[in-house]
Amino acid sequence: MRGRKSKRAKRQEFEAMQAPSLGGVQVPRGNGKTVVRLRHGSSLNDFADKIDANPAALVTVLFHLGEMATATQSLDEDTFGTLAAELGYVIEMVSAEEEDRELLGAFDIDLEAEEAGESDEDLAPRPPVVTVMGHVDHGKTKLLDAIRSTDVVAGEAGGITQHIGAYQVVKEHEGVERPITFIDTPGHEAFTAMRARGAQVTDIAILVVAADDGVMPQTIEALNHAQAANVPIVVAVNKVDKEGANPAKIRQQLTEYNLVAEEYGGDTMFVDVSAKQGLHIDQLLEAVLLTADAALDLRANPDKDARGVAIEANLDKGRGAVATVLVQSGTLRVGDAIVAGTAYGRVRAMFDEHGETVVEAGPSRPVQVLGLASVPSAGATLLVAPEERTDRQIAEKREAAERAALLAKRRKRISLEDFTQALAQGKVETLNLVIKGDVSGAVEALEDALLKIDVGEEVDLRVIHRGVGAITQNDVNLATVDSAIIIGFNVKFAERVEDLADREGVDVRFYSVIYQAIDDVEAALKGMLKPEYEEAQLGTAEVREVFRSSKFGNIAGSIVRSGEIRRNSKARVLRGGKVIADNLTIESLKRFKDDATEVREGYECGIGLGSYNDLQLEDVIETFEMREKPRV
Ligand code: GDP
Repeated sequence: MRGRKSKRAKRQEFEAMQAPSLGGVQVPRGNGKTVVRLRHGSSLNDFADKIDANPAALVTVLFHLGEMATATQSLDEDTFGTLAAELGYVIEMVSAEEEDRELLGAFDIDLEAEEAGESDEDLAPRPPVVTVMGHVDHGKTKLLDAIRSTDVVAGEAGGITQHIGAYQVVKEHEGVERPITFIDTPGHEAFTAMRARGAQVTDIAILVVAADDGVMPQTIEALNHAQAANVPIVVAVNKVDKEGANPAKIRQQLTEYNLVAEEYGGDTMFVDVSAKQGLHIDQLLEAVLLTADAALDLRANPDKDARGVAIEANLDKGRGAVATVLVQSGTLRVGDAIVAGTAYGRVRAMFDEHGETVVEAGPSRPVQVLGLASVPSAGATLLVAPEERTDRQIAEKREAAERAALLAKRRKRISLEDFTQALAQGKVETLNLVIKGDVSGAVEALEDALLKIDVGEEVDLRVIHRGVGAITQNDVNLATVDSAIIIGFNVKFAERVEDLADREGVDVRFYSVIYQAIDDVEAALKGMLKPEYEEAQLGTAEVREVFRSSKFGNIAGSIVRSGEIRRNSKARVLRGGKVIADNLTIESLKRFKDDATEVREGYECGIGLGSYNDLQLEDVIETFEMREKPRV
């Protein structure tokens, strides 16, 4: 690896480069506060565009700051930051949401202005959208089933209720029939995943706590998620039919988390239920409506093109991409041209949770939509494209933006290999781990063993999450937020999660032998895990003339045929396409009489390969460097 230059050396080199004698690398400079706004995944070309500079000049400047990049390569925020600071600019990265807003703006779609322009007359009340959260085994699934079976409409229609990701039930409240929408993927995984994508679909959270078990870690996690998202909570104290159930204790415990029951003078509604016996489900629905009416103003404009969120999607063998969409405002109709994230298409048919066809869906209505050309991710926002063919254009532009952002991100997140380096540079002090295993015994054993590794004082090992089962979206989301590495012991990725991990650049490692996992982590912590390297060709030069020099050995008068030749890089010699010498170094490099650090394609130069002298006309000198291999 090349030694890193000191800041000062870099600066001197940079200043020298500004001098006219060095090819006149001129870059317009900022005043130290000039702001340049860049999208995620931007390249030097984009930066050059903003400051009216020559991209090649930026490549050079960056090179002298110790980073190699081509003009079109996506770079991360840190790299731009370093470059910008050198040139007197301040970088502001445009957020993904902002970026999408700009992207839509190009199609004359401004969702915010659209909403701001809606008057009271445009808005009609809409049903609340509810998510059920809580600790595992406290009865979330059972409760969702119990609620579903209270639905009179379903009973009358006699349809078989299908799982489509959400359903609606109707509850009579003060003489009015009011629908309530439930997201029926229990747990906060779906909730966090959607929030991570900037989509908020939940209006109210039902927090399920088993009365015989009490407040548990995931109860608190769920509660934190809801509170962070500003979503009001209704507490369902479940399993009150069980012996040993103590509903009063739950109320007591939750006061510590700012959830004070109404009967204790707070404003949170607690309802004692038994999901198993279907007890008090009606009161729970009542509490949801009362909380919605007291805390929220749930209205939306039904008379416009639909806006919404894809809450679940999959590829069906016979029907193609099937997405469950929650309409948030406007009305979705069969025949509409839609975009959901990076998927586009025309609504071919819509179904409700009873498998019945639907021709239109208004605010808060979940429907299964057929007709998208690909499968959108959960949490992708949906909109009806205003004009013919814009659906496809929007989707393609989004995809391009995502791909660019992904390329930039790939370089960024931590992997077990670069952890040591980040540690040395003082960038991290903690190695965060998420551990998943096939059985809880293995997870515990692994966690215990890992925490016992003696890692000295400078570094901390933290297990931020552990669990049994496949590696899920939630694990990856957590790892993303906390820059953690995921260790999977005898488990695999859950469906479609591998893509997500890949997109987010999260390092996921699989093991089937505990001590191997321990070895790797220990090695990373102690700086012994060696990165893998691969060869990257830098340039080739063709020998045109051989100068004999007693002092320096033979010098090959050459012309650079591709890339560039850099002094000190590794080299080999090819004759007639065959390698005749390897393991050489470009020991001297000259342009005419002057020493050069690099010579580009099309230029002539003199190359010295140290003591290697067997050079002939038309030999090709190939140079390369060993680059750290990115993990895929
Ligand atoms: P989840 O992990 O939160 O979705 O929990 P489940 O809905 O799968 O329920 C976990 C277990 O608790 C199952 O065996 C249920 O039958 C049981 N259970 C759920 N609700 C009740 C209840 O109200 N009373 C009793 N006695 N058992 C319940």
